[in-house]
Amino acid sequence: MNKLLEAHLLPTYARAPVTFVEGDGCWLIDDNGERYLDFASGIAVIGLGHRHPASTRAAHEQLDRLWHVSNLYWTVPMMELAKKLSERFDGARTFFCNSGAEAIEAAIKYARKATGKAGVVALEGSFHGRTMGALSITGQTAKREAFAPLLGQVSFAFLNNSLSLRAAALADTGLIIMEPIQGEGGVHPAEAEFLRAARSLADELGALLCFDEVQTGVGRTGSFFAFERVGVRPDLVTLAKGLANGLPIGALLVADNAIRGFEPGDHASTFGGNPVACAAACAVLDAIDEELLTSVSTMGERLATGLRELPAVRDVRGAGLLIGAEVEGSAAEVAAAALERKLLVTTCGASAIRLTPPLTVSASLVDQALATLKEVLA
Ligand SMILES: *Cc1c(COP(=O)(O)O)cnc(C)c1O
Repeated sequence: MNKLLEAHLLPTYARAPVTFVEGDGCWLIDDNGERYLDFASGIAVIGLGHRHPASTRAAHEQLDRLWHVSNLYWTVPMMELAKKLSERFDGARTFFCNSGAEAIEAAIKYARKATGKAGVVALEGSFHGRTMGALSITGQTAKREAFAPLLGQVSFAFLNNSLSLRAAALADTGLIIMEPIQGEGGVHPAEAEFLRAARSLADELGALLCFDEVQTGVGRTGSFFAFERVGVRPDLVTLAKGLANGLPIGALLVADNAIRGFEPGDHASTFGGNPVACAAACAVLDAIDEELLTSVSTMGERLATGLRELPAVRDVRGAGLLIGAEVEGSAAEVAAAALERKLLVTTCGASAIRLTPPLTVSASLVDQALATLKEVLA
């Protein structure tokens, strides 16, 4: 079955040998009826768990009413979602698209238009997506080199090294962009001091500061935005992964006091702001309250503490339920062995596994995952 279908897909992914047919909270069910504990969540996407009643009901009701109209007109779910996001990030305005990379493309264009400056400062080890603009500011040579030439005027600084950030910035810098916690690059948190340095540098240069919260946003780290935990306010924020609990959506949020950029005609997306995705996202935002965020922190600490106690784990990093664990040996082999024991985890780099369970995960499921990992790492 898998082999047959493989012949019809371009080989962009080294997929694991399993086909999933159903989701249920923190569980996935494969085509043989086997149940798997999902500590990947589609890579930090299924924040509320599979088939969460609120987002499922919201999407269903919208499916039965209206699927699509052009962005030449208004729709209720899009307006409601923009209002909810604006409330979360005091007065911000949103552009909707369909993925993380698209949100990044919008940020690059917005900064260019607003500042009139084409230079971008990004970080080594970062990940911002696979489209040409997003790839150009992704600080990972292996992902970039086959696709040169990419955007010019991009320079890379080192995470948590303010001097290198300053050195990378030039007079033509219009955008400084970073993940508050580098996700795909290995779960490396940016220190508060470094984020503050980026804020000051952007102000000095008349550049916009963008936090790419595609992975860290929507409650993943224990606050709605990861930047809230350090108190540094960006000009731009990108969101995507967890925003609609699995339906495709991306968003660029622009702070109310940021330099004005886009005018009608500057940017667009046919599917952006899709009513079904926006309706599901509204339900997600309603579900992310203080109680859930507290649970994300508590469960995250439980998971991190348990991981630190495992003998083959060298380092544990992250915040909330975005956790990276440096393991002895190959992370890919650990992930494969976990899958054999019906636990899904992902990797981030050659020697780190990444744990991103649904934000709704319970203590007993955290313990169950830890017990499985203990066996795997023994
Ligand atoms: C996943 C990710 C992206 C890219 O999102 P896509 O939806 O895959 O295009 C961008 N930035 C960060 C921080 C991500 O984790």
